Amino acid sequence: MRVFKFGGASCNSIERIQNLPTILNKYRDEQIVMIISAMGKTTNALEIVAQEYYKGNCLKSVELLNEIKQLHLTTSQSLLKTSFNICAEKLQEYFIETEKLLHSEKVYEYDFYYDQIVSIGELLSTCIISFYLNEVGINNHLLDVRTILKTDDNYREATINWNATQQQIAAYPFHQSLTITQGFIGSTPKNFITTLGREGSDYTAAVFANLLNAESLTIWKDVDGVMNADPKSINDAQLIHELSFNEVIEMSYYGAQVIHPKTIKPLQNKGIPLYVKSFINIDNAGTVISAKAVNNLPPIIVVKTNQVLIHLHTKDFSFVGEEPMAALYKIFSTVKIKPNLIQTGAISIQICLDNWEEKIEQLKQLTAHLFNIDITTQLQLLTIRHYTNELKNNMLANKDVLLIQQSKETFQALYLS
Ligand code: ASP
Ligand code: MG
Repeated sequence: MRVFKFGGASCNSIERIQNLPTILNKYRDEQIVMIISAMGKTTNALEIVAQEYYKGNCLKSVELLNEIKQLHLTTSQSLLKTSFNICAEKLQEYFIETEKLLHSEKVYEYDFYYDQIVSIGELLSTCIISFYLNEVGINNHLLDVRTILKTDDNYREATINWNATQQQIAAYPFHQSLTITQGFIGSTPKNFITTLGREGSDYTAAVFANLLNAESLTIWKDVDGVMNADPKSINDAQLIHELSFNEVIEMSYYGAQVIHPKTIKPLQNKGIPLYVKSFINIDNAGTVISAKAVNNLPPIIVVKTNQVLIHLHTKDFSFVGEEPMAALYKIFSTVKIKPNLIQTGAISIQICLDNWEEKIEQLKQLTAHLFNIDITTQLQLLTIRHYTNELKNNMLANKDVLLIQQSKETFQALYLS
């Protein structure tokens, strides 16, 4: 059994969806489980629907949902010759359900609504693709992942209940040659929908690969594989043919957008190789990520934009002892904040975070009794793994640097954008 993951870019247009059979036909005789994300930027659009609903702008949220509906209906109409009507009916069911929610009174926290709303992106894309593939002779079965992937109720960052999920997977007849299902979403014991964190479809794919003891996982992307830098911002970015699991865990920790950070562990635990391949140049080898150690890697460059530096000063100029530190970490966990870098000094602590306004506001309120706070926005965080001094200096030339941290392997600098 092989697990394939197709992200939003692989199905963001009619042409891209029509490209899927070319790939799948190469694996006709194999058992495939295909995990799919929402089409293109649908998740971003649905996030705005959720925000408008929560702000009390019901009409606006319904209007935005309508735009998403039209886009999906038009796409399926262009793709489907014989099964458009039944597909459209199915899509309508999801929209009606969501619209009902948008008209309902707000009684839960935002994250709950976010998950109920944003999750339809994956339900829509898989529905359309399943119908389309069946029409072009690639018989498949559409599995509703909510019946399989069980999680806790930590909305927007749900934790998988591995035992419950394992039991569901064991009971499901994966005898079909091709099973299609949704990435990114799951459900609680009470059957509310949860999501696994943005870009979480990679992780879903890894969970399936692990629990199915798959021979491999392939993530199909619009790039040739894993690069040592983002080719959009660095001209001579190069493809890395081979990487170890550990290196990829480090890279994604520092914010490389290659693979969702949680993807590697489930694969590493079972020694399942991960292939990152292009869905455009399908015969290119791409990158293989496995347990094998890889030496002589090129420098790997990651730049995180839209960073914020929060400078916390103890209110009474006392040293930052264990207690305020413990309190601060407790607050990170309450607010669900993951600092990208922390530097402690005698009477102050500096933390670099993604610019997530609601969370920063919460952090400010919860730490107000301990610290005075300064905030600097519009920063970039550069990380170089396997750095050279020359590269480091080149990349920081003319930059207004606020903070530097380095170890033997990893160099980080925070500077004004
Ligand atoms: N559609 C979700 C997102 O855009 C999940 C994913 O793409 O993996 O975050
Ligand atoms: Mg996506």
